[in-house]
Amino acid sequence: MNTKIEKIANRVLQGKGISCDEAHFLMGISGNEIYDLLYWANRIRYNSFKNVISLCSIISARQGSCPEDCRFCSQSSRYQTDISNFPLVEKEQIAGAVERGKKYKSNCVGVVTSGYSLDGSDDFDRICEDAYELSKKDGPPIHTSIGTITSKMAKKLVSSGVEMINHNLETSEAYYPNICTTHTYKDRVETIKVAKEAGLKICSGGIFGVGESAEDRLDLAFRLKELDVDAIPLNFLSPVKGTPSSLESPLEPMEILKIIAVFRHIFPDKELKVAGGREENLRDVQSWMFYAGANSTMIGDYLTTRGKAPVDDLQMIKDLGLIYEGRDGQNP
Ligand code: SF4
Repeated sequence: MNTKIEKIANRVLQGKGISCDEAHFLMGISGNEIYDLLYWANRIRYNSFKNVISLCSIISARQGSCPEDCRFCSQSSRYQTDISNFPLVEKEQIAGAVERGKKYKSNCVGVVTSGYSLDGSDDFDRICEDAYELSKKDGPPIHTSIGTITSKMAKKLVSSGVEMINHNLETSEAYYPNICTTHTYKDRVETIKVAKEAGLKICSGGIFGVGESAEDRLDLAFRLKELDVDAIPLNFLSPVKGTPSSLESPLEPMEILKIIAVFRHIFPDKELKVAGGREENLRDVQSWMFYAGANSTMIGDYLTTRGKAPVDDLQMIKDLGLIYEGRDGQNP
């Protein structure tokens, strides 16, 4: 057992934070010592969450035709991809996603729309109306991921019963211009700030495997910590043909597990969610994501790609002796 990892992890378990230098040391670990890091990340996860795993699902509620140029995204109109484009779906489809979320034991259902912002659009009002109506039913709550929001929009989301928004910072501020040039990192940080001021909870994380360095990964983590976000989704690039990021080499599964474990050391008691790209990138070691410190994952399909069959994910969680939270806190 690497005693330096043990020392750092024990301090985390005692409620003390880790320094940037220590996080750099952990991110630099390789070979068999990654197993030591996973062991401690699992201890930290257990210390905060015991055996409970949270699940969330999403619906791609408005897809494609986006003028932005995020290099990894199949929904940008600048790239030739074979996804389908469609306007905002009907309320019934959002209600259907909530029903499915309930069946999959999701703690929330994210309504996700393409584009920079819904500011001033009828789509925003429609999503608020749907969220308000559906919040009165017995299903998982609706969260939104609708791009940049203003203070006025944040307040309207709150009055519509939305408790949390997703808005990923994606990577470090320094690396951000390498993955998107049509809007700025500051825009993204601003959305998180106005949402927090309005009382919304924040789900914000990043994407890995887009050519960023270890330092970029840690800069992202410490920026999210500074912003005091509530949940951190970790996405791992699943290259889509036609996008500039399709040329990136995929991350190795052990590298991904290490990233999850380092984030768990930095965020000992926050929801750490493995989101897009786990099936393709982790392959047979998907179940290790919980041992690496994740206490949350997405279930069902992603925005433009299929996920694992929900029944298999629920079985995986049960096979590990873990419990999914669902609406009632019980496995079926
Ligand atoms: S990530 Fe969002 S803003 Fe960027 S291209 Fe895709 S849909 Fe547009």
